[in-house]
Amino acid sequence: MTSHEMDGQAMKPYWQNYIDGAWVDGGAGRIDVIDPATGEKLAEHALADAGDVDRAVMAARRVHLSGALSDLRPVERGRMVQAMGRYLLENIGDIARVLTLEQGKPLWESRIEIEGAARYFEYYGNQAETVEGRSIPLGKGYFDFTTYEPFGVSAQIIPWNYPVEMTARSLSAALATGNTCVIKTPELTPLTNAWFAHAAEAVGLPSGAVNILCGLGHEAGAALSGHPMVNQIVFTGSVPTGVAIATAAARNVVPCVLELGGKSAAIVHNDADLDAFENDLRWGIFFNAGQVCSAMSRVIVHESVHDDLVDRMVGVAKSLIVKPGIDQPEFGPTMGAMVSVGQRDRAEAMVAQAEADGAQVATGGRRLNTPGACLEPTILTDVSPDMTIANDEVFGPVLSVLKFSSDDEAIKIANGTPYGLVGGVFTRDLDRATSAARQIRAGQVFVNEWYAGGVETPFGGYGKSGYGREKGREALWNYVQTKNVAIKLKG
Ligand code: NAD
Repeated sequence: MTSHEMDGQAMKPYWQNYIDGAWVDGGAGRIDVIDPATGEKLAEHALADAGDVDRAVMAARRVHLSGALSDLRPVERGRMVQAMGRYLLENIGDIARVLTLEQGKPLWESRIEIEGAARYFEYYGNQAETVEGRSIPLGKGYFDFTTYEPFGVSAQIIPWNYPVEMTARSLSAALATGNTCVIKTPELTPLTNAWFAHAAEAVGLPSGAVNILCGLGHEAGAALSGHPMVNQIVFTGSVPTGVAIATAAARNVVPCVLELGGKSAAIVHNDADLDAFENDLRWGIFFNAGQVCSAMSRVIVHESVHDDLVDRMVGVAKSLIVKPGIDQPEFGPTMGAMVSVGQRDRAEAMVAQAEADGAQVATGGRRLNTPGACLEPTILTDVSPDMTIANDEVFGPVLSVLKFSSDDEAIKIANGTPYGLVGGVFTRDLDRATSAARQIRAGQVFVNEWYAGGVETPFGGYGKSGYGREKGREALWNYVQTKNVAIKLKG
């Protein structure tokens, strides 16, 4: 048993960082990890400082320069990456329990997250040997080929909403393409990332190929994104932090991928299958208590079906039982706590501001009178496009409903925020759906099912939702750089 494995049902009281193949304390001391469902302290985690970050980056750089990963035949790297996914599935019970305790989501949602994480390792493990070069004819006397090489050290700064899946998303693709990695885990939810270190060891990756540390954003996060030996950065989180990271990347002239959330809208036409939409809504806005970058946080509904749809949405919201995630082992109409009291208070304050601005609370909007960070599933009606609630990301179980009367108006409202991560259109009319899909300014458009798609489909933002793509084959190009070799042959 390794130092971080579960001992029966007991939570290990102190968790360390993983640098160059060793479990180590943090130069910045320790941080308390809180169970958001109870407000109680779960464990302590080592907190990295800039010195720890430097050691991790230099270890990753050493492994990169050694060629231990980049010189492997891609199929061999791919097999290791796939085995990491299987390792996660073999340990799903333990990981799910810790994920629920540190993040708040229901146990059944944690299992879905870990299965999703394993799927990334399966997919990108498979893709490893598809990254092929090509030869360009230059005429007699020349031979030319173009090849793709890993950047080197990939720095990955992870958010707290899906700490397992988000790490899996970037780590699997980076390793499959031969990069080495330094992962900065979120300070609210650092515990589950320990299993990526165990997985790396279990599949035989060299020490230093994967480094995992928890640290504060302005300290370890800033040290990592500004480190001169980092070659590429992946970030998911808020816009202001994305700007700070892009600025640091620009100073060192390294590429970065930014996935910065959204204010995504579903347009519901009067010919939509409202039963199907009602079912989808439960996932669209209440999955992970709405703490999803691509959440359906706005519904733009045709005036003729507005009242019917609001009744249905209120019904869905009221049917959800909110209770500690650890008491929710089986899939059901349940929702857990938000990640922290701070995030819950922020969401509640945004609802109060919306009311002051003229929105109506059709249901929810208040904290639960229980310990922990729970907010009622909330539906806001009478929202107009100019209100703050219609433009700013809540990152909680709060849905804003807006009305439209013409197709053009619906598109105008959908495109009316600075974000552009995803969008959706619900209609039985294929022409209308296709036209909306073309006009919605977002990196992904769902037609008749929110969250359609998967690991295979490219995902990323327009506008303030960021740039670069995660998922799909597109994401592979984040992790490789192009080299052309043009050869003058003798004679
Ligand atoms: P954040 O963007 O500050 O944190 C995300 C990650 O970035 C964490 O690991 C954090 O330590 C790190 N970080 C913070 N400052 C940094 C810096 N200067 N340099 C490098 N790394 C840094 O997000 P938050 O404060 O935890 O949440 C605030 C809001 O961000 C949320 O309410 C939500 O709207 C949004 N958010 C979006 C996503 C998403 O999936 N798009 C995820 C988390 C949060």
